[in-house]
Order: sequence, then structure tokens, then C-alpha cells
Amino acid sequence: MRLARLGGLVSAIALAATMTACGSSQKTVDVQPSAGAEGGNAGALIGVTMPTKSSERWIHDGDNVKAQLEKLGYKVDLQYAENDIPTQANQIENQITKGAKLLIIASIDGTAITSQLQQAADNKIPVIAYDRLIRNSPNVDYYATFDNFKVGVQQASSLLAGLGVDKGEKGPFNVELFGGSPDDNNATFFWNGAMSILQPKIDDGTLVVKSGQTDFKTAAILRWDPATAQKRMEDIITKTYTGDTKVDGVLSPYDGLSIGILSALKSSGYGTGSQKYPVVTGQDAELASVKSIVADEQYSTIFKDTRTLAETTVKMADAVLKGGKPEVNNTKDYDNGNKVVPSFLLDPVIVDKSNYKDVIIGANYYTEDQLK
Ligand code: BGC
Repeated sequence: MRLARLGGLVSAIALAATMTACGSSQKTVDVQPSAGAEGGNAGALIGVTMPTKSSERWIHDGDNVKAQLEKLGYKVDLQYAENDIPTQANQIENQITKGAKLLIIASIDGTAITSQLQQAADNKIPVIAYDRLIRNSPNVDYYATFDNFKVGVQQASSLLAGLGVDKGEKGPFNVELFGGSPDDNNATFFWNGAMSILQPKIDDGTLVVKSGQTDFKTAAILRWDPATAQKRMEDIITKTYTGDTKVDGVLSPYDGLSIGILSALKSSGYGTGSQKYPVVTGQDAELASVKSIVADEQYSTIFKDTRTLAETTVKMADAVLKGGKPEVNNTKDYDNGNKVVPSFLLDPVIVDKSNYKDVIIGANYYTEDQLK
């Protein structure tokens, strides 16, 4: 038994060596399961690119992916691009030059790295899209993410819950809508998910978007920039919410934007005296926002455990590098404009003041002390 295994390993190593020597045109992702691929890629370099350190979630994502890959013996080149598209493109090119055997990419602009991905394909380097789908390229092998449509549904449901609509409140409530970055494929999923719940309530008069800004293009915030969201909220308040007209709710797709939005509201007197903050949603359970929820400012967020996403992605990467087929659970929803990318979708969870202890502290995502 031991001998047989050893024999397999030896021939596997020989096979891997042959493949390298003759520059096999077979892509790692297509190779059938064999100890050979494992032997060949053991300790391989993996290139990981993340969008920015300006949002806490990506720091956690990067740290988790790196640590988990290293635990499996891989070497990791982890890069952040501070939301600059050419920087991210360069980082990917560098990783290819350095001999990375697989790339894990959380893109900034999902359409802007087509030529880098072509370069990866030319070098037989498989690519996993991390959290955000990479668009318009055939050279994306797998996608690991949360159910992004569901995130939008949850944000909208939580907005309605905060307003009491689910308990029969009829309104009309004044709400304003924010979308994510238009170059991030997720942003449209979040928006469509949210509007699937909100549109019927707008149509029946329960919700009123006083600013009249109900299309994604107008509501979208480029690069998810909190300052842009703050400015847009300020403009809406100045133009639309004069006299006694008040904002009752804001659909915000990301905690960073929610902070900007809340700060615009605060400057206009919300959150002081009898003038409560409107119901403001969010996403990512970033520390400042969970604290804000505890302090009755932000109403809710969506918890997407970055540790689990990292685990899913690392499992995928490891399977691919060993020549196997990673587990996926969705092969229909994520068409990147060129192909439907086989995906693994995780479940997001709504968090508000009523359940943050169970969900966030319970999962040991933050400790009680961190939230003080
Ligand atoms: C992610 C969200 C995040 C947003 C801004 C999206 O692609 O899915 O979790 O809030 O980017 O960083």
C-alpha cells in the first residue's frame, strides 16, 4: 500500500516534470485529478489581488485567504490596489511574471482586466473571481461569492422591517435609494434584489422616493466612495427635504456609504433631540457600523462572513491546483457576458440590534469588547 502510493507519487512527480518541461498546453483547471498535479503545484505561488484597504472587509478577506492558503503550504503574493484600476492590472501582470500558478482576484472594475486574464490563460494560469464577478472574459474559471441578489432582498426587507411595514404600517414613508459602484457586477445584483421588494411598495404608495431618483444610474456611487454618498445625501436633503418633510428610510448597499449618509443626516439635525435617524441599511458588518447599530444610528447591515468566503475560495483553489473540480452550487446566474461562470454562493445574514449578539459575537466575528 505504502509502496503503491509512493510509486504513484514518483510517477506523478515525473509527469509534472514532463508537463513543465514541454510546457504542456493543458490548463491546470482542466487536468484530471491526480497526485501529479498535487505534486507539481505543492507549495506553488498564488497571486491574490484585493481592491482596497480603505474598507475593512477587504483587509479581512485578504488576511483570511492568505492565512488559509499558507496553511495548505502555498506561497501567497497578496496585493491591494487602493481602488486604482491600472495598479490592479499591473499587480496581476507582476504575479503572472513571478510565476503564480493560480490567481484569485477581487476586481475593482469587473470589465477592465480582460487583457491580463488573456495573459493568464496564455500561461495556463487558472483564475478564480473572488466576491465580484470578472466580466467580458472567457478566462475566468470559477467564482466564489455570497448570494448577491439575496443581499439586496435582505437589505430591502430590513428597510421595510425598520419602518414597520412588515407589521402593517402603511406609510407613506419617504425613502431614498443608493446603489453601489456601477463597474462592480455585484452592485446591480444588490439593486435588483432590493428593487424586487421595494418596487411593489413604491407602486402601491407605501414608499415615496421624494427626490424622484429611482434609477440605478442616478443612485449609483462610483467606487463605493463614502464621501460621494455623503455629498449625494446632502444634495437630496437640501433640494427635497425642506420644512417638515423628513427622510424616513435610506437603502444603502454598503456600510461605508451608510456612514457617509448618516453623517449628512446628522449635519441636518437628524439623530438629535426628537428627530430620530431614518432607517438606514448597510452591508459587510464592518466594526464601525456594528457599533453604530448598537448606538441606534444605523439600523442594519448584512453579515457576510469573510472567513467562510476565504475558506470556500481556498478550497476551490486547492482543488483546481490538484487537478480536480471544485464544488459549485450555481451554474446559471453568473453570466459574465462571455460565459456562465460556475459559482459557489454563500448565504448572507441580516444583522440589526435585535440579533447582533447572536450572529456577530456568536460567530466570534467581533468580541463584545471590540463593540464597546
Ligand atoms: C461587495 C460588498 C462590499 C462592496 C464595497 C461589493 O462588491 O460584495 O460586500 O460592500 O463591494 O466594498
